[in-house]
Amino acid sequence: MRIYTDRYNYLFGPVPSRRLGRSLGVDIIPLKICTLNCIYCEVGKTTSCITDRRNFDDPDDIIAEFKEKYPKLKDKLDIVTVTGAGEPTLNLNLGYILGEIKKVSEHPVAVLTNSTLFTDENVRKELSFADVVVPSIDAATPEVYKQVCAPHRNLDIVAINEAVVKFSNEFSGKLMIEVLLCEGLNDNMDELKKIAGVIKRCRYDLVQLNTVHRPPAFSRAKTVPEKTLLDAALYFKSEGIRVENVGNYIHEFEGCELTQAQLERLISMRPCSLDDISQVFGVSKEYVKSVLDSLDRRSLKITPHNGVDFFFIKK
Ligand code: SF4
Repeated sequence: MRIYTDRYNYLFGPVPSRRLGRSLGVDIIPLKICTLNCIYCEVGKTTSCITDRRNFDDPDDIIAEFKEKYPKLKDKLDIVTVTGAGEPTLNLNLGYILGEIKKVSEHPVAVLTNSTLFTDENVRKELSFADVVVPSIDAATPEVYKQVCAPHRNLDIVAINEAVVKFSNEFSGKLMIEVLLCEGLNDNMDELKKIAGVIKRCRYDLVQLNTVHRPPAFSRAKTVPEKTLLDAALYFKSEGIRVENVGNYIHEFEGCELTQAQLERLISMRPCSLDDISQVFGVSKEYVKSVLDSLDRRSLKITPHNGVDFFFIKK
């Protein structure tokens, strides 16, 4: 089901990306098809957990929309991000879509991926068309992977991490590895050591250490305390890993007007707090509240997380 409220079906944004800046998202996977059912997922619970790559919507419809919207927004962007309400590498047309977007985009094109299909040579080849790839390494052992990411039964984390190492050494673009820590699950020294062992064999630009900053799909996904995140970063650094803590960082979107449609698109992709929205659009919280008040209350969901209310459009 596509939930956007204006005439665009596949594009969203610009949206704030903690990792990449002001991003025009290209959504190539319908809600919510994924190879994993991560407990920390901001999009919600996986409804279709698959590992076979498929044709979804007509890729030329996606490209046509990109060609129409990109020129109007390009001055407000840092990056174009191919993603989805699930895992984008499941889309069999990923390579074609990336190639066509690259013909038009003056910005780097990134792919956010959970890494699960890197074992497929075709996926690695198609991802090589991107300028930036952001793969996740949230675990190194099957037990922890199961607890944090609830993978499809076909998936083997050891093989996946080997494939990430292989891809990283073949890829000539920028590789930014994300490690997301959930309290009590993958934040222990044993797992961190094993994750560090995988990363150290990769050719990468930066590791971004993250935690649960927004309402998760499952309430057992807990934010790690700041000190734990810092200790983990210091440990990675002591191992010679280039790492930064992402934090709950959000960019201001200069020149992006806060309209009902913009707000609906933003909070249909990710839960945002009043602070987030006011910062993104550079407007007062009172003004944000007035626009929130104008949205349809039946579809607006408010979820508290770490003492802050997050607004989300119900799927
Ligand atoms: S966080 Fe990403 S990989 Fe995990 S379930 Fe959500 S969409 Fe899938």
